Amino acid sequence: MKILVLNSGSSSLKYQLIDLDNNQVAAKGIAERIGVRTAEGASLTFQTNERPARTISADMPDHEEAMRLVFQALTDPEDGAIRSICEISAVGHRVVHGGERFVEPTLVTEETLNEIDAMSELAPLHNPPNLAGIRACRRVMPDVPQVAVFDTAFFAPIPKRAYIYALPYELYEDFGVRRYGFHGASHQYVSSRARQLLREGGRDVSGIRIVSCHLGNGCSASAVVGDRPIDTSLGMTPAEGLVMGTRSGDMDPAIIPFLMRRTGMTPDDIDDLINKKSGLLGISGTSSDMRDIQSRAEAGDERAALAFEIFCYRVRKYIGAYAAAMGGLDVVVFTGGIGENSPDVRAAICHGLEFAGVVIDRSKNDGFRGEGDVSAEGARVRVMVIPTDEEMMIARETAEVVTRLLEPAAHN
Ligand code: ADP
Repeated sequence: MKILVLNSGSSSLKYQLIDLDNNQVAAKGIAERIGVRTAEGASLTFQTNERPARTISADMPDHEEAMRLVFQALTDPEDGAIRSICEISAVGHRVVHGGERFVEPTLVTEETLNEIDAMSELAPLHNPPNLAGIRACRRVMPDVPQVAVFDTAFFAPIPKRAYIYALPYELYEDFGVRRYGFHGASHQYVSSRARQLLREGGRDVSGIRIVSCHLGNGCSASAVVGDRPIDTSLGMTPAEGLVMGTRSGDMDPAIIPFLMRRTGMTPDDIDDLINKKSGLLGISGTSSDMRDIQSRAEAGDERAALAFEIFCYRVRKYIGAYAAAMGGLDVVVFTGGIGENSPDVRAAICHGLEFAGVVIDRSKNDGFRGEGDVSAEGARVRVMVIPTDEEMMIARETAEVVTRLLEPAAHN
């Protein structure tokens, strides 16, 4: 079964054609600068298993045109990945916010689209471009089933004590002010992969207590017991919790009215401040990119060193808090661009958690690539590095929905 996975941003469209029969990516690429008038112009990259990436420059005034070009590339008789669109069993769309309405992957209908649209108030930057991608795709391939897979859905089971803020309860009832959590596909993928690897190693994983740390440009930590999340660090929006590339994560909420009164900042200015000018960038004053932060810190830049320290300290605090929330800790998983690639970040986060049974093997951790265990022999907690694969998770969820909904007879 081949599933096309789409992730639409405001001016970009990432796609992967995943063959679930062999768990391989048959083709992938990204359309960039959609609807943006720049000297560079819009472009589409395309690569398959057999052929290296090629870039196609073309006019892309909107997502629909980008979609058309993706299909042209996929079915190109010379170097495409499939002969016709009929080979695609379904399309899985990443949608950022499902609110309380969408707690599982959902077949797309006109009604679903209207409901996702209504959810845009909660994710004004993300849901509208996600919707534009789905609508464009439905126009270009109307006969292929489409499924929306929500970034928030994995966290639907977290208990009320974890998702209700200590604000007047009516704000939750009237406006949906609560924690939803994001990066769901990533936390779901890496926590289930960790369980699978441990099960293969002969361990009983029922009730296993995992903290998964997704550390990329956006960062989040989740507490998962068995296959059930019980808490997560991102909140009503993707701004809470850990320090991120440009987002602040946790801070005293009263700083906001203070700054508004003191500087005359508007709500939009504050949005910009906490989402685009804070985090590693805000502390260091130079970069949101962990590679830059590390090399500047090594070269003696004190602000970069402080950004690194605060970043790691915050993750360590969350691991400790979630261990307490779960009544113990069995596994810490690192993923995302930073979690997968920075041994120094992993070591700095774990340093100080030895009391909880977290001990990294320095020689395994340094230069570690790929998927595996970097904890010391005999340590009580397994520290694992697992490259995330959100697209694979979305493809699997999509396949499950279409198999269940469109072929009910097969499951009776
Ligand atoms: P996104 O959240 O946008 O998907 P990624 O998961 O790709 O982003 O993570 C990007 C982050 O990963 C950047 O801060 C980048 O500096 C960091 N990163 C990538 N490779 C390394 C590395 N070798 N060492 C340290 N940080 C790295």
